[in-house]
Amino acid sequence: MDRRSTRSVLAGAAGVALASGGAIGVGLAAWIARLNGWSFGGDAALIAVYLGALYTGVIGCGLVGSALFLLALGGRPGPRVFFGLALAFCLLLTGALRYVPSVQLLSVVPHMTAIGALDIAVLLAAVLLIGIGVARASPRPLAGLVASALALLIGLEMVHRAHERPLYRDLTRVVPEVIAGTAPVWPPPAAEPFENAKLVVLGFDGLSWEVLIPLLHRGELPNFHALISRAAYGHLETLPFAISPVVWEVISTGQPEARHGIGYHSHFEFRGVSRRVRRLPHFRLTNSPMALRRALARASVLAPWKQVPANSTDARVARLWEVADHAGLSVGIYDWMNTSPVAPVLGFVHGYGPIPPRMFPPGLDDDLPALPSGGAPGADGERWVTDSLPRERANYRRFRALAQRFRPELLMFYTHLADAANHLSWKDATFGNRIFFAGIEHPDVEPGAAIVAATRFLDDLLGDILARLPDRAALAIVSDHGFDFRGYEHDNGPPGVFILAGPGVRTGLTEGASVFDMAPTWLHLLGLAVADDMRGTPLAIASPGGPLDRPVERVASYGPAATPLAGGVASEADLEEREQYLRALGYVN
Ligand SMILES: [Zn+2]
Repeated sequence: MDRRSTRSVLAGAAGVALASGGAIGVGLAAWIARLNGWSFGGDAALIAVYLGALYTGVIGCGLVGSALFLLALGGRPGPRVFFGLALAFCLLLTGALRYVPSVQLLSVVPHMTAIGALDIAVLLAAVLLIGIGVARASPRPLAGLVASALALLIGLEMVHRAHERPLYRDLTRVVPEVIAGTAPVWPPPAAEPFENAKLVVLGFDGLSWEVLIPLLHRGELPNFHALISRAAYGHLETLPFAISPVVWEVISTGQPEARHGIGYHSHFEFRGVSRRVRRLPHFRLTNSPMALRRALARASVLAPWKQVPANSTDARVARLWEVADHAGLSVGIYDWMNTSPVAPVLGFVHGYGPIPPRMFPPGLDDDLPALPSGGAPGADGERWVTDSLPRERANYRRFRALAQRFRPELLMFYTHLADAANHLSWKDATFGNRIFFAGIEHPDVEPGAAIVAATRFLDDLLGDILARLPDRAALAIVSDHGFDFRGYEHDNGPPGVFILAGPGVRTGLTEGASVFDMAPTWLHLLGLAVADDMRGTPLAIASPGGPLDRPVERVASYGPAATPLAGGVASEADLEEREQYLRALGYVN
């Protein structure tokens, strides 16, 4: 083969890469613009250029590699073959490994699951059929082959759909049964109560009825038992794609993610683009078209864009504590998601996230004892929980000290210990090294040592809160999502937990609650108006004739989020630590 034909084959490969990469760049940029509420202007055009270059590079490497391989075999592939290959490659990037890389391999037991293997087999078959069709190029077999490929893909989608439905365990019988066994014991009052508290909200990330029920059965959660027996409780419907910072912002605002501004754990900043990209396209569960999030994250080391942790400067609509603060209530917020850099309030904010300032008032933690280090990323679940408990305890003691110092009317405390313990250990504890058929098996979880330790810690914490809760105060427990112990963990939006007790709250199961209803319910409870632009409504939890049995006050809107104090920049060490942490728990990849 002469040099000229080699060159023209390579040029063909490069041309196809440029054409397909460019088209993908424009398509994805238009999608991003729509998702983020932009019109297609200069910002989107620049993103189209960046993504076009990225995917031209990615596809180009594949096509030039294939060209060299085919040339070495003596072939002389033309553009049509390259188009076929490019299409196959895009399909693979978009659909294949639907769970495997993002969920299964990063989960605790890193084996390939039956569903993951099925995905790959079906997608490869579909790709092959389309590839053969394109290479043959005569219309009749092509149509048949494409139809067969589509049938395979649709079949695969149907298999997934059946198994992606989140589990809603029937609580009508189960909870009364588990709490009826023994008499509930409310902890005796502590010497120093939370004096002015009207509402205490405990945000327990990842807390699930799937774990609470067996542990309540075993009598291991006396304080949950006591609380549930005098509370309204139920499943909390969450977002179909339950990403913690996104869901917590829904909980804090009652607003959907398209409006509240938090789109993921991290957002992207592109050089020359005036706005942060908060939301990226994704299909059901963790899969993004053309593996977009992963490609952007990997390339960000060299490319003119970077990831920034989602933070309070991204928040667009007023959060519960900001509304309360505006209404003249004092607030104390501890480690609540998306709170740093902090905004001033009447009270205190101990912010969550790597971006300073993290404390309001400044110097808030100066005379608090330093926090011990937590569990190391990469440790096994039980070890991680054991190593993290001293830090968790110290964190709670800090919260308590601040609550006693400031005596706020609204107190909010967050921890993600339960979520981390579930992520890190349930497969290990339930399956050991046996093959686990994600999406097919649907086992009851056997909470292992790590989950038991984490949940018992929450129970102890709850006991201390109950002992300090004034009679006139309400207590809410909320989780952003539960766990679906089928292998998806919580990507398919299994319901969280809500529990609410206080004066005028009717006890027993409340059905149909969603994360959108939390802020409206708490506002009503605090005697504040509910905004018309919130998606949720106050739950029907008022006992007839009680103090909550009154009409809901309305206001049109609470407007934008408070402006955080001029932010510093997160230190590289803090960002790196956060990244490692999220990765170790399988939150990001
Ligand atoms: Zn979560």
